[in-house]
Amino acid sequence: MNDCLFCKIIAGDIPSTKVYEDEKVYAFRDINPQAPTHVLVIPKKHVASVAAVDELDDADLAACLRACRLVAQSEGLTEKGFRVVSNCGDDACQSVKHLHFHVLGGRQMGEQMA
Ligand code: 5GP
Ligand code: ZN
Repeated sequence: MNDCLFCKIIAGDIPSTKVYEDEKVYAFRDINPQAPTHVLVIPKKHVASVAAVDELDDADLAACLRACRLVAQSEGLTEKGFRVVSNCGDDACQSVKHLHFHVLGGRQMGEQMA
């Protein structure tokens, strides 16, 4: 999608720090990290959010969660734990309308999720 920030990152038009990539998924460090590890995992196909995942093939969707696991492992988070978050829509404060999964870890998370 032409005016989508994350599509521009996938295309390399906006620089990012790549953590993982395969044919379906791109993962990169969040520009404003909220934990010692804060990586964004996104499908290469543009869909707006979890509310629009019916537009994604099951393989693309599965690849996103698998990439979250791979990122957690490569970041050394699997032993102590990590959190995967996907904000969807205005009430959840989604600011970039391209589906993304935040992979957060490296410190004790709060018990409250919201
Ligand atoms: P949301 O608020 O939509 O759940 O998450 C969007 C995330 O994208 C935020 O955590 C924000 O810091 C991150 N972000 C916004 N613009 C950029 C950018 O240009 N580069 C990178 N790496 N992250 C960005
Ligand atoms: Zn996009």
